[in-house]
Amino acid sequence: MGLDAQVAVVGLGAIGSSAAWQLAARGADVVAFEQHEPGHDRGGSHGVTRLFRVACLEHPTLVPIARRARTLWRELEEASGQDLLHATGGLMIGEPGSRIVAGTLLAARTHGVPVEEIDRAEIARRFPAHARVDDGQVGVWDPEAGVLRPEAAIRAAVDAARVAGARVVTGTRVVAIEPDDDGVTVRTADGVTRVAQVVVTAGPWIDRFVPLPLVPHRQLLTWFRARPGERADLDVLPVFVRRVPGRDTWVWGHGAMPGVFDVKVGPEFDGPVERVDPDAVDRTIHPGETALVEDLVAATFPALAPTVTAVTTCLMTHTPDQQFTVGPTHHPRVVVGGGCSGHSFKHASALGELVAQHVLGDPRFVDDGFLDPRRFG
Ligand SMILES: Cc1cc2nc3c(=O)[nH]c(=O)nc-3n(C[C@H](O)[C@H](O)[C@H](O)COP(=O)(O)OP(=O)(O)OC[C@H]3O[C@@H](n4cnc5c(N)ncnc54)[C@H](O)[C@@H]3O)c2cc1C
Repeated sequence: MGLDAQVAVVGLGAIGSSAAWQLAARGADVVAFEQHEPGHDRGGSHGVTRLFRVACLEHPTLVPIARRARTLWRELEEASGQDLLHATGGLMIGEPGSRIVAGTLLAARTHGVPVEEIDRAEIARRFPAHARVDDGQVGVWDPEAGVLRPEAAIRAAVDAARVAGARVVTGTRVVAIEPDDDGVTVRTADGVTRVAQVVVTAGPWIDRFVPLPLVPHRQLLTWFRARPGERADLDVLPVFVRRVPGRDTWVWGHGAMPGVFDVKVGPEFDGPVERVDPDAVDRTIHPGETALVEDLVAATFPALAPTVTAVTTCLMTHTPDQQFTVGPTHHPRVVVGGGCSGHSFKHASALGELVAQHVLGDPRFVDDGFLDPRRFG
């Protein structure tokens, strides 16, 4: 059987849209499938904003990935004429030995991110919105942090893929991926496409096709506003990840961009999560569901009214070690990009490039062994 294309990309969310773009830009003959329309709200990448940090507390090697991602987001801004990444800087607050502070400093020192360590008094002086900080806690300022616009970024990457020659098929669900010695058969309700390699970037749906220990689960995105007479826009409340005063938990988020988005605050998702079927997610917001985050906001930010102004559901996909999965899988013709673990959007353009480099056998721009899907056996 002849081939219909060199590479099929299954799923055009955060990582898949960039993978299709990067593959096509390198001259690959790409066909890309998306079950909805790019920028939709059924997967893991909607909700108006995503935090961008460079001194990534999750792993030092995420620093060069974030920096490469920023270059690629800027390329997409050029191509699309839209603002996708708004630089704000970011403040991390916690105990000196905590994951937030120690992890951020380790990443910064390993890769030369010019972070600033600031004490409690300095936090209160420079960032009055963060005046409530427990004794013994400190801050780390990451000057390279910012806020991304996920829906627009995904659409821009899909457009760039099309411009580079990819055939993009939307509103079409892939129902089976069948690799063999000579190629891969990709089945949709409308027919069969035969390719040499397949990229599976299906987000919460990846384990329908690839046996990986991923756990898709439901999360809420919640927005708040300043109390009357108070300010909480991005200038006074840039990106943050911080311990909640008096509590053993964190919150993350950013201030408002008036007329565009409100303040976003979310709780850190440590601990066990309940696996959901991504096709049967409960999208209803139940009474009392926002009480936890409202309580955390009340404890942390006196300037914010602690009642959500908006809330929506979103899907997060955890891996056992909370790092992503990028690279070849059980079958050399099947390359995966996913396992977001709640922190991959910022990196997605560069993860798409890594996927393309794996598929084409090109040298990778960074040693991405810690993301190898085969680490799970
Ligand atoms: C609440 C929340 C907060 C987050 N905050 C941040 C943050 O601040 N910073 C950050 O960097 N990251 C953050 N993340 C992580 C990030 O936003 C995304 O979850 C991650 O980028 C997911 O990207 P993805 O490409 O793996 O999946 P998705 O973007 O979900 O894309 C998967 C795509 O595959 C498609 N698809 C699936 N199955 C098929 C099929 N069979 N056929 C065709 N198409 C298919 C889907 O429709 C979807 O479009 C957050 C996540 C959540 C849930």
